[in-house]
Amino acid sequence: MTNNYSGSSRQILIVGNGAAGLSAAKAARAQSPEAKIIMFGEDNRLPYYRLRLCDYIGKSVDSDKLQISNEEWFEKNRIIIELSRKVTAIDVEARKVITNGKEYSYDSLVLATGSTPIMPPFKNKELSGIHTIWTWEDIVEINKSLLDARKAVVIGGGLLGLEAAHKISNLGIDVSLTEFMPRLLPKQLDEEGSEIFSGKVQSLGISVFCGKSAAGFEGDNHGHVTQVHMADDTLAEADVVIVTVGVAPKTGIFRNSGMSMNRCLNVNEKMETSIKGIYAAGDVASINGTWFGQWTVAAKQGQISGTNAAGGNAVYNTTGVPYILSTMGTKVVCSGDTGDLQPNNSDMPYEIDQKIDKEQFNYSKLVFRNGLLVGYILIGEPAKAFNKLQSLIKTSVSADTINKILYG
Ligand SMILES: Cc1cc2nc3c(=O)[nH]c(=O)nc-3n(C[C@H](O)[C@H](O)[C@H](O)COP(=O)(O)OP(=O)(O)OC[C@H]3O[C@@H](n4cnc5c(N)ncnc54)[C@H](O)[C@@H]3O)c2cc1C
Repeated sequence: MTNNYSGSSRQILIVGNGAAGLSAAKAARAQSPEAKIIMFGEDNRLPYYRLRLCDYIGKSVDSDKLQISNEEWFEKNRIIIELSRKVTAIDVEARKVITNGKEYSYDSLVLATGSTPIMPPFKNKELSGIHTIWTWEDIVEINKSLLDARKAVVIGGGLLGLEAAHKISNLGIDVSLTEFMPRLLPKQLDEEGSEIFSGKVQSLGISVFCGKSAAGFEGDNHGHVTQVHMADDTLAEADVVIVTVGVAPKTGIFRNSGMSMNRCLNVNEKMETSIKGIYAAGDVASINGTWFGQWTVAAKQGQISGTNAAGGNAVYNTTGVPYILSTMGTKVVCSGDTGDLQPNNSDMPYEIDQKIDKEQFNYSKLVFRNGLLVGYILIGEPAKAFNKLQSLIKTSVSADTINKILYG
């Protein structure tokens, strides 16, 4: 059946009940008090702070603290939220979305289906005790596995792996973190920064193994994991394994829609896809080829797409989005050109101001070119002041002035 709403106002559909979907709904309502706004979620949960999930490793999830908006908020803002309603296809010719049970027509459509964690084809990956992390339900299952656990292996040293390793280690469980790349956060940090950060992780009792990749798992007679089999033929004991090797944008239902996509849906700075009236935001979208995979970016892109879906004219500025990681009781922030994008050349060499404090795990690297600050990496104490640095990028501020801001 087609669910046509009466009246002449614009009907805006939002696929996805995460950070991007929710801010799209909010912005659409702010832009258009009359629009009919319907948001779909395939699970049965009101939007929640996905990025805080690891705080509930080892304890029961506090729904009041994790939930972003309650039912009253949706009612007050006249946003219809359809939960347990998975969108299965989009008919761009007929301007309809097809869900499990109903079809809905749209005037504008926002696609905010987010990501799904990647599970490589590891041998014996179906053993119990092996988990990925993306949803509330994943945390509930991880907590069951942790009840009697003594040893955990976290595969993947990115944002999610680090956070999971830290929280599991806090429970008194022996944690090993394995990273395929030769150092932690290689995309974000230079060698010195990575060494400082790795030192901080190890100071918390977590064993770090870089340059090691997993190949599969061994289990006991009950089908429960007991060991991780590494590609170099070594074995690591584990009664819980967390696999955090990356996420894949959830694009499956758009594959036959004719929309331009690579790994993600391609959008322009207005968050428009290649099909008029259809917008995409958050982890599922790549804006002029750039993918972020970050909460604040998803929320901002959602806002832009919701505004435009409701008839506005907003633009997302991709420049100056810093990478921010808060975990292991420290903060890592990097932004701009951190000194390794182009080889140094005599025309415009990098000028670097670096401060390394191995004991306190503090680090700052300020990168200048042609007298202008072009980027930075901050770890620990100096990272607390990163907000004050962001607006200085591309200005001719001196290293001394910045260091006063960072170190007082
Ligand atoms: C444990 C954890 C910690 C994180 N920590 C940080 C952090 O510190 N900093 C940071 O910047 N980022 C962090 N992230 C990443 C951040 O949470 C994501 O970038 C962000 O959630 C993306 O938002 P989104 O709305 O695009 O997608 P999602 O949050 O994935 O939401 C998409 C929603 O759409 C629904 N959906 C999907 N397909 C359909 C369909 N066909 N029909 C209906 N509904 C559908 C999904 O069920 C989901 O609820 C973390 C993520 C996790 C899991």
